Amino acid sequence: MARYIFITGGVVSSLGKGLSSAALGALLQARGFSVRLRKLDPYLNVDPGTMSPFEHGEVFVTDDGAETDLDLGHYERFTGVSARNTDSVSSGRIYSTVLEKERRGDYLGKTIQVIPHVTNEIKAFLDVGGDEVDFMLCEIGGTVGDIEGLPFFEAIRQYAHDKPRGQCIFMHLTLLPYLAASGELKTKPTQHSVKELQSIGIAPDILVCRSEQPIPEKEREKIALFCNVRKEAVVAAYDLKTIYDAPLAYHEQGLDQAVLDAFDISPAPKPDLSVWRDVSDRVHHPEGEVRVAIVGKYTQLEDAYKSIVEALTHGGMANRVKVRVEWVDAELFEREDPAAHLEGLHAILVPGGFGERGTEGMIKAAEFARTRKVPYMGICLGMQLAVLEAARNVAGIISAGSEEFDHESGKKRFEPVVYHLKEWVQGNAKVSRKVEDDKGGTMRLGAYDATLSAGSKVAEVYGTTTIDERHRHRYEVDIKYRKQLESAGLSFSGMSPDGKLPEIVEWPDHPWFIGVQFHPELKSKPFDPHPLFKDFIRAAKEVSRLV
Ligand code: GLN
Repeated sequence: MARYIFITGGVVSSLGKGLSSAALGALLQARGFSVRLRKLDPYLNVDPGTMSPFEHGEVFVTDDGAETDLDLGHYERFTGVSARNTDSVSSGRIYSTVLEKERRGDYLGKTIQVIPHVTNEIKAFLDVGGDEVDFMLCEIGGTVGDIEGLPFFEAIRQYAHDKPRGQCIFMHLTLLPYLAASGELKTKPTQHSVKELQSIGIAPDILVCRSEQPIPEKEREKIALFCNVRKEAVVAAYDLKTIYDAPLAYHEQGLDQAVLDAFDISPAPKPDLSVWRDVSDRVHHPEGEVRVAIVGKYTQLEDAYKSIVEALTHGGMANRVKVRVEWVDAELFEREDPAAHLEGLHAILVPGGFGERGTEGMIKAAEFARTRKVPYMGICLGMQLAVLEAARNVAGIISAGSEEFDHESGKKRFEPVVYHLKEWVQGNAKVSRKVEDDKGGTMRLGAYDATLSAGSKVAEVYGTTTIDERHRHRYEVDIKYRKQLESAGLSFSGMSPDGKLPEIVEWPDHPWFIGVQFHPELKSKPFDPHPLFKDFIRAAKEVSRLV
């Protein structure tokens, strides 16, 4: 059975628990252990699928079609372990399961309560897959003391209590604020946060202390004494230049050793950190820089495009260049000439998105990229809009648009070159959808295969003609326009295996213009950059040499 590591946070939010969990996962792997990472979120949404990217950042989609928290993206990028539907849960999901059971009569007339019914449901979730790996890392969202988080804290307390001694440990992340006036790092908030944990029956085994300044030995001793942890288990987490230094930095500070000690694993297997040394070397020693525009709608919040930015960085690492992202709000191009903003940039990326706002600007960006021969990657909505640009400006379908925009405005304004997808094949089964369906979890979600045309640019980039990639969309380019668009020069170089759904389009006479209906960014890793991003940055690097 797996050993469980519960990761909690205190003092303030946004301490980077997800990143610390992911880096610890990578360090345990480097010592030869298998790991799985899991996120428990206290909010009441059933999943983040219906949350605005402005609220919650990107929605990370798993192979098996779950819409999850962006922390699962960190977990995958650091460990390479594909997350599953069962690796992400929220209060909303737990409560809806409990209430469904109550309606079915499963509780045989009992009064349903947070303890034990909700906590039991959380514990059952923790158990899933516990026999498959050496370590299960479970991160609890939010901070200790939050009202919504209480059932989760109670459940992990019980879980550790139910299991044999030494099977579970608790790791708590806190902040040591620095008071410039007195030149001191303050430990009191950490002490209070640990007290809060202790008051609900959880005694942390490891404290990870975020700090801008080096933690003096004296302060470390004080924290250990007052918080009842071993001094070696007070681990410093300093600010890093890049997140990809986290595994090496945590190793240097002794995090993995502290974890092995807490479980009494001795002798500790020696770590092989060569992968992370190479990753770190590539980030820190680029041989040039490329500037890539992301023309999107949620550009004020970088987290909304988290995986894209990381995948671009991976592409840069593969090509030994630094990728500088220039954020462009697409709506700007509805008022101003895109040339003024895009000239001199080395590549353009139009990401996924929902709703009509900004789309005319994105179409302008696609037109600029096509006519000026600037490398263009269109992802999901960015692919659909590249098709609309081709339809309007090259194939002569001047009112080409997406049904998504007509549904939103309630008016019929466009010829539906992109239409609402009502039926598709998943494995051997047919999936059907209606326009009036619920919004949550009803898109075409998760990994689907695609077949690439031999000799196409994408087949060359992938080095194969069968791929599988993760999807998250409700609308789709209508295959009935294929002939017309292909005679205008746009090639449908990737299709669903049944030939019905366009998955990839490209302009064969362009140096690099590819639109994909899926989200390649979700599968890119620093140690295994996605082929599309790798080649996109290669193309951008070529442009950077010319301009
Ligand atoms: N809004 C579009 C659709 O639902 C694109 C979705 C996306 O970019 N993820 O098809």
